[in-house]
Amino acid sequence: MNRTHYTPSRRSYYQSSNISKTETTHRRFKKRSIILFILFIAGVFAFNSQITHAGDHKSATPIYSHKQTVCIDPGHGGADPGASSNDGLITERDINLTVALKLRDILNAQGYEVFMTRTSNSVSMDNRVRYTYCNDHHASVMVSVHHNFFDDDTVDYAMDLFYKPVDKGLANSIVSATASKLNITDNGIAQFEDGVLSESTMPAAVSEGFFITSSDEYSLLTDSTSTRLADEASGIASGIVTYLNNPAKANAAAETNIQTLDRSSD
Ligand SMILES: [Zn+2]
Repeated sequence: MNRTHYTPSRRSYYQSSNISKTETTHRRFKKRSIILFILFIAGVFAFNSQITHAGDHKSATPIYSHKQTVCIDPGHGGADPGASSNDGLITERDINLTVALKLRDILNAQGYEVFMTRTSNSVSMDNRVRYTYCNDHHASVMVSVHHNFFDDDTVDYAMDLFYKPVDKGLANSIVSATASKLNITDNGIAQFEDGVLSESTMPAAVSEGFFITSSDEYSLLTDSTSTRLADEASGIASGIVTYLNNPAKANAAAETNIQTLDRSSD
C-alpha cells in the first residue's frame, strides 16, 4: 500500500500513534479508522436528535414543519359586508374574518405556514388583490371563507365552490369535514366562476360553511356559550389537511359529490 493514498486526517492519526509501517499495522489501522468513522457518524446522529428534542420543548412559537402553505381569504370586508342575518346584525364580513383567524391558528398549531389576504374588518379589496396575493406567495392551496344566504330561514347546509378541475378535491374535503363538524347537511360542491377560483394558480375553494340567514344558526351565533365558529374553523382545517395529505384520494372522492348550483352565491 502506498502512504500517499492516505487522507491528511488519517496520516495525522497514523503519525501520532507511532504505529510501525508494516502491512499488518496498516490493516489494523484501516479497521480502527472504519470503527472511528462509524462512531463519529453515530455521534452526529445522537447530537442532532438532542437538538431537535430540545427545540420541541423550548419553543412556544409555531415551527413550520410542513412544506405546504395555506392562503386564507376571509370574504368581503370594509365597505362590503357580504350577506347578513335577517336582522342585519351579523354580517359575513365579521364572521368570515372570525372563522379565518381561528382557522389560521389551528393550521399554525399543526405546523402549516398561513398567509391571510386580510386580518382586519376595515379593509376593502377586490378579487384581483386576493388571488394575486395568494399567487405571489406561491401558496399550496387557497381557501376563501364565506357564508351562504337564502330568503327561507329554515334552509341550512354546507357547500363549497370550485372552478378549476384541480379545485375539486380541496373543495370536497372541506365541505365534507365542515358539514360533519357542524352536524348539518353536506350539500356537495358546485362549479362557480369566481375570480379567486379561476385566477388562482393553485387548488382553491370557496367555503360556504352554513347559512347566515338560518334561524338555527342565528340562535347559535347569539349564544355566548356556543362554539359554532370555532367548530366551523376546525372543520375547514380538517378538510384542508385531509386534502394536503392525499390530493389524489380527495380528487377521486370529489367526483361523486358534484352538484349543480341552483342560485346565486355571495
Ligand atoms: Zn360571501
